[in-house]
Amino acid sequence: MDLKSMTLEELTRAVWEMGEKPFRARQLYQWMHQKLAADYDEMTNLPKGFREKLKEQEPLTVLTLEERLVSKLDGTEKYLFSLSDGNVIESVLMRYRHGNSVCISSQAGCRMGCRFCASTLGGLMRNLLPSEMLEQVYRIQSVTGERVSHLVVMGTGEPLDNYENLLRFLHLLTDENGLNISQRNVTVSTCGLVEKIRSLADEKLQITLALSLHASSQEKRKELMPVAYKYELGEVLDACRYYFQQTGRRVTFEYSLVNGVNDTEEEAERLSKLIKDMNCHVNLIPVNPIAERDYTPSKEGRIAAFKNKLEKNRINVTIRREMGRDIQGACGQLRRSYLSKGDTV
Ligand code: SAH
Repeated sequence: MDLKSMTLEELTRAVWEMGEKPFRARQLYQWMHQKLAADYDEMTNLPKGFREKLKEQEPLTVLTLEERLVSKLDGTEKYLFSLSDGNVIESVLMRYRHGNSVCISSQAGCRMGCRFCASTLGGLMRNLLPSEMLEQVYRIQSVTGERVSHLVVMGTGEPLDNYENLLRFLHLLTDENGLNISQRNVTVSTCGLVEKIRSLADEKLQITLALSLHASSQEKRKELMPVAYKYELGEVLDACRYYFQQTGRRVTFEYSLVNGVNDTEEEAERLSKLIKDMNCHVNLIPVNPIAERDYTPSKEGRIAAFKNKLEKNRINVTIRREMGRDIQGACGQLRRSYLSKGDTV
């Protein structure tokens, strides 16, 4: 495991095994996770000999910025980073009144196959290390000079398909010796891997779980999300109920509205019945069209009618504001256009 993915305790041991005093681990941890150093040479209070040894034996995990696009519409920023093995990933910075929120990728590519999503078209390349998830936040905070206060794991990849690394990442991100982001400001979005939702619930973290629902019946969900062949809608919702029981955190349901596919009032009614007993919130997202599929977003009137129906049934609901439309803000589109240019390793 790389040094930047280690807890302070683990790092202390690793540093000791390199023949250094334990307090050096604390200094190193601070350089990596608080001062966001991009190079061992910046770590000026570490002895030169130790820095040289680190450079030789423990290459520091740092992402390389390939592209930064800034939206003229709303200040949203889209980042393309390359990893040390040549894979590329994307991250997004969104500016809200309540603070800056970063959306990170959890895998290079994805193997879940959701029909409307650009991130999964090329399949899964590999899982990201905890350090590679952290680095997306660290580089963005360094580049902008602005504090990141909120984080959503809603970029490329299925976070619960990279479970151990995700947990380690969450621990380091919210560690008081690191960026110390509040767990309550962190959201993890999943397509619904039931066992993993239950494991996450047992961790009793204060993070928000977002479930990508996108349909009000098992049949319709199967059409849009292959993962539904593995898990019945009922058991996915039960896992969400369990998450609330264990953590007391209200679950968010994401529902992408696709024109003529899942956007009727009937479906809004059925959705209401499915979740009416739950402490939850529904986020409606007009689907972002991707070139490879002919899905289009629902018309405004339909979106409003869908929302009204849910509200009448006393379901908490919001329509997600679209951000960064001019910079390929949606799910996996920047990475995809970069890969199709063929200029990656
Ligand atoms: N794999 C996780 C997290 C990444 S996707 C998950 O499935 O939740 C983040 C969210 O964006 C999911 O709700 C996903 O269904 C949604 N999404 C993907 N492609 C989209 C598109 N083209 N338009 C609207 N939402 C999309």
